[in-house]
Amino acid sequence: MRLLNQASTISGPVPMIKITPPGPKARKVLAVDKKYISPSYTRAYPLVVRRGSGMMIEDEDGNRYLDFNAGVAVCITGHCHPEVVAAACRQMGELIHMIGTDFYYHHQSDVAKKLTEITPGKFAKKVFLANTGAESIEAAMKLSRYYTRRPRFVAYIGAFHGRTFGALALTASKAVQRRYFAPLLPETTHIPYPYCYRCLFNLTHPKCNFACLSYLEDVLFKKVVPPEEVAAIVVEPIQGEGGYVVPPDGYFQALRKLCDKYGILLVVDEIQSGLGRTGKMFAIEYWKTVPDIVCIAKGIASGLPLSAMVSRADLHTWPGGAHANTFGGNPVACAAASKTMELLENGLIRNADRMGTYLFNRLLKLKNKYEFIGDVRGKGLMIGVEIVKSRKTKIKDQIRRNKIVEKCFKQGILILGCGDNVIRFAPPLIVTRNDIDKAMEIFEKVLKRSS
Ligand code: PLP
Repeated sequence: MRLLNQASTISGPVPMIKITPPGPKARKVLAVDKKYISPSYTRAYPLVVRRGSGMMIEDEDGNRYLDFNAGVAVCITGHCHPEVVAAACRQMGELIHMIGTDFYYHHQSDVAKKLTEITPGKFAKKVFLANTGAESIEAAMKLSRYYTRRPRFVAYIGAFHGRTFGALALTASKAVQRRYFAPLLPETTHIPYPYCYRCLFNLTHPKCNFACLSYLEDVLFKKVVPPEEVAAIVVEPIQGEGGYVVPPDGYFQALRKLCDKYGILLVVDEIQSGLGRTGKMFAIEYWKTVPDIVCIAKGIASGLPLSAMVSRADLHTWPGGAHANTFGGNPVACAAASKTMELLENGLIRNADRMGTYLFNRLLKLKNKYEFIGDVRGKGLMIGVEIVKSRKTKIKDQIRRNKIVEKCFKQGILILGCGDNVIRFAPPLIVTRNDIDKAMEIFEKVLKRSS
């Protein structure tokens, strides 16, 4: 319980920058990190975190930041939510591990039952528990192949589904994530995401009639990818790492129809967009589309490692031994997950919806003032701001985007980029108007100076 007390007694102004980060204590950590940690990580700026509470992150030198990343959309109940901490601490005292894929405990079946209730679709479902987003994607890929006996997958340009070999074959977000790792799964095809602000076909919705989807059926299925060989189409309902891209209404309904026509499974990756972030439990609900498989991770246990693949029960034709792991469904993570889902239903999703609208409108006002903001888009608390050289040319301005992100950090606001030139806002779902007002004040100051 010490942790619980520690987290709930942190008070004082936020943001508060006492010393320009990284300060001396942070620099010491950075030096050791540089020596011993793999350089393959993606670090946007030198934030060395000591502790967190609610919307606040404190660094090693006592600087305090307002966190508008939530550890990249993970800490959805805020940092160290006292009820989550209490549930996890209680569980730590009872049982930490007893390999849930070999034995049984109620924590994982409780979480699985709840997940089958909150995911779209009123049919029987089953759940595979794992630790990371990529693992839940791997499980979805293996189940899809096992059930359909088909070898191929279709994914999207700009997609991010993780970095293990199977998930990486679907990922097409940045070349650096794939460079020199081939061969990946050979039978994987990427199609354009419905990114209307930058339509690859140079068309405009709705006149386009979803040409990006017809391309799959009318061109690829006829010439390159026999549809009866496709096990699954894997899609993010809102593209995350690809730039917080929101598809137009009707796209997912059309995609569902196409999958049904060819007996292809629809796998929806809700790893970043799921669990209340968009103001609905799952983003795909905005488009009233029911997937065959949903992948969930990130926020599910408020920061403890847990992920899940939830699917139609009838897909689970695979026998014992076909797929399992050591740590998936860990009881401490499950205890945190049960509490997290309770908090979501008891107000956090509603708050994400309300605060999302408020933040979106604040950002839209900024768009009207600054020519270099090309687009503001999103749902709930998953909002992207696209930085361009000019609205007319839409040329991406990655340099300015990076400067804005770095300067916000130095002023005490934690945001991150995504895509080539997009700033993402993905705060914990506990965010208040007051937090948003403070963040927007600093964000606008930074925008002004970046002009
Ligand atoms: N899918 C999506 C949409 C993601 O955003 C991520 C991570 O950012 C992943 C999959 C991979 O999750 P993990 O890093 O936990 O493997």
